Amino acid sequence: MTTAPEPPDHEALRARYRAERDKRLRADGNDQYLEPTGRFAHFLDDPYVDRVERPPVREEVTVAVIGGGFAGLVTGARLRHAGIDDVRLIEGGGDVGGAWYWNRYPGAMCDTAAMVYLPLLEETGHMPTMKYTAAPEIFAHARRIARHFDLYERALLSTEVQGLRWDQASSRWIVRTDRGDELRARFVIMGTGPLHRPKLPGIPGIETFGGECFHTSRWDYGVTGGDPSGAPMTGLAGKRVGIIGTGATAVQCIPRLARDAGELFVFQRTPSSIDVRGNHPIDPAWFASLRPGWQREWLRNFCTLQTGGFADEDLVMDGWTDISQRIRDRIVALVEGGAELTPETMRRAYEDSDDEKMEEIRARVDAVVSDPATAAALKPWYRQLCKRPCFHDEYLDAYNRANCHLVDTDGRGVERIDERGAWVDGVHYELDCLIFASGFEVGTDHARRAGFETVGRDGRTLGGYWADGMRSLHGIHVQGFPNAFVVGLAQGANLVSNVTHNLVEAATTIAAVIAHARSTGAVEVEVTAEAEEAWVGLLQSSERGFLGDPDCTPGYYNNEGRTLGPKERLGMSGYPEGALAYFDFIDRWRRQGTFEGLTFRTRV
Ligand code: NDP
Repeated sequence: MTTAPEPPDHEALRARYRAERDKRLRADGNDQYLEPTGRFAHFLDDPYVDRVERPPVREEVTVAVIGGGFAGLVTGARLRHAGIDDVRLIEGGGDVGGAWYWNRYPGAMCDTAAMVYLPLLEETGHMPTMKYTAAPEIFAHARRIARHFDLYERALLSTEVQGLRWDQASSRWIVRTDRGDELRARFVIMGTGPLHRPKLPGIPGIETFGGECFHTSRWDYGVTGGDPSGAPMTGLAGKRVGIIGTGATAVQCIPRLARDAGELFVFQRTPSSIDVRGNHPIDPAWFASLRPGWQREWLRNFCTLQTGGFADEDLVMDGWTDISQRIRDRIVALVEGGAELTPETMRRAYEDSDDEKMEEIRARVDAVVSDPATAAALKPWYRQLCKRPCFHDEYLDAYNRANCHLVDTDGRGVERIDERGAWVDGVHYELDCLIFASGFEVGTDHARRAGFETVGRDGRTLGGYWADGMRSLHGIHVQGFPNAFVVGLAQGANLVSNVTHNLVEAATTIAAVIAHARSTGAVEVEVTAEAEEAWVGLLQSSERGFLGDPDCTPGYYNNEGRTLGPKERLGMSGYPEGALAYFDFIDRWRRQGTFEGLTFRTRV
């Protein structure tokens, strides 16, 4: 007879979590990271296309969409659907796709199930091949949307916006680019994305490394050989390869690197939590049996379960819905057992289910990794949502290969880098190739991340206006920036597990507002100061949103372990009633047709 495992000692776990956090706290927080400049300036270049010169475009346009990732694409699609054809997409990359254009590293895939992650599946008629699709299929889907909605025809690719300025006299935005273009746009859409500007670890001597090196978001297949679909990276045969970082990106590419490199050295500062993946092909017969409207149903079901709600069935059934259903079921059990529903009971239910989940994740490491010391170092000691949870079925097993070496730095990071390799704990690791899986800027100035400044009414800059934190109505409209619309997560649903759900809803809202402006002959639409103030006040009235726990180990989810001030809180806040309630709210707001909080001006 087997006995149930002992529940973990909650207090002992918390003490361990705090100790691990304390090891990693740094006075320099976000400033520890470097921008790719100097020797690394080319890390921002586009390695996938050759730049082709073209004459500058000077024209008037109804809508300029900045960013050709899913934010820009779905907004373009919704605008076309609303009958607005005069849409120019402007994108720095050589094609549409955004994150999925840039991130072509081996093993890249999306952790959110394709049935809900890939936007506009019904509209474009695409069936995902797998429950979780690989990056090339996602990139192809982005291109499919651009084709389907005729967004390519007028797209300006390989074109960086350099400035956006509101011209009051003509009620238009002047959009300037690095190609000398000057568009005079009635409306601008900002779909510039949250995680796209690569950052580098501030390791002493990093600039001295003499071997091959690149950031994962610009994978150099010229060096490694192979391709994004998984062909062997023959260029790494016999080579000593190092990778810095063990976040969601590294977890996906390490199994491929371990397969192809002569020796692989994984420099780890904090282990990721690696839950079960369980990928499988989508059955075409089953897919064909889905009723029209299925994707909306799936999106709502996933959002409901993922945010602690109830549904008759779990359509997606994955690690995301598992996390929140465990918490929800514990709360239900406590209440049924007679406990009062207080913030304290809710917190306890959350912590107990998290303890249970993290024990499972740590036990999985022991079950898969043969070397006990390596297994011990791969165990995450923090709550699952302190860092981006990872899901993978080959990552842990990669460490059973004789050529795959975990170099755990016990929270300190790589000591220094020299011309020939990296140092940890006084040991030198000689490397031919060094890969930075060190992530992307989060929380830096908006203009720096977007790559341009936005100057609105009366010379107000967006960076300046948001210096003390983001302010908006619904995360979309900003006072002083008429006819400009932000497409993102923050200050709306703020649903972090399925980003595209936010984007499609924002796109639908924006298309409705622009269509209304056009049908009423309005040349300007702007949020009132009162409506923006009220919305920000509503967000601040509740802690709901994506706010880290003070005991969490540092990372970009919690401002690198620094106290979250009002600015960070505003940037991470969401509708107090939760994501699904936001989607219902914004649907009603759109349908009412009065667009409460916005002013439409026909003549200025
Ligand atoms: P992350 O910011 O998550 O990870 C960066 C890694 O670099 C961390 O492991 C960090 O360690 C490590 N690091 C930083 N500085 C040092 C140093 N000095 N020495 C050693 N290690 C260091 O970036 P990723 O690119 O992995 O992921 C970014 C985000 O992109 C994810 O969180 C996710 O949202 C998204 N993504 C989504 C995927 C999907 O499936 N949908 C797949 C891949 C990425 P530490 O943890 O200690 O800070």
